[in-house]
Amino acid sequence: MQLDDLYRRVIMDHYKNPRNRGSFEGESVSIDLNNPTCGDKIQLQMQVEDGKVKAAKFTGEGCSISLSSASMMTDAVKGKTLAEALDMADSFSSLMKGEPVEFDYEDLEALSGVNKFPARIKCATLAWNALRKGIEQAKQ
Ligand code: ZN
Repeated sequence: MQLDDLYRRVIMDHYKNPRNRGSFEGESVSIDLNNPTCGDKIQLQMQVEDGKVKAAKFTGEGCSISLSSASMMTDAVKGKTLAEALDMADSFSSLMKGEPVEFDYEDLEALSGVNKFPARIKCATLAWNALRKGIEQAKQ
């Protein structure tokens, strides 16, 4: 199987079976962002305790790239400190610049091909921009 096909399967799996889709009851960090160039929308909620992301959930609509990225991101940051989550967002930015990056949450590497399609980069980074804002909000 070609790597591209494998990556496409991983992306479609997250799109069709999104992890952490939904919202929390009660207090949590909540961020709304959209990507007008594609029509992607995300509402990200995070529960932060003792400087760690206890859990993250999202709702929204959009293309397969934006929603699969949100599904992966919310899974990948679970249990991470805010600093580690921010590092991961930076690593994802590097991935979108075409730099070779390895993640301990390997599914994220399936989005590496997006850097060849500049119009789609904003789709892939939407959830990560929401994460950055959520981290800022959690620190306040
Ligand atoms: Zn999109």
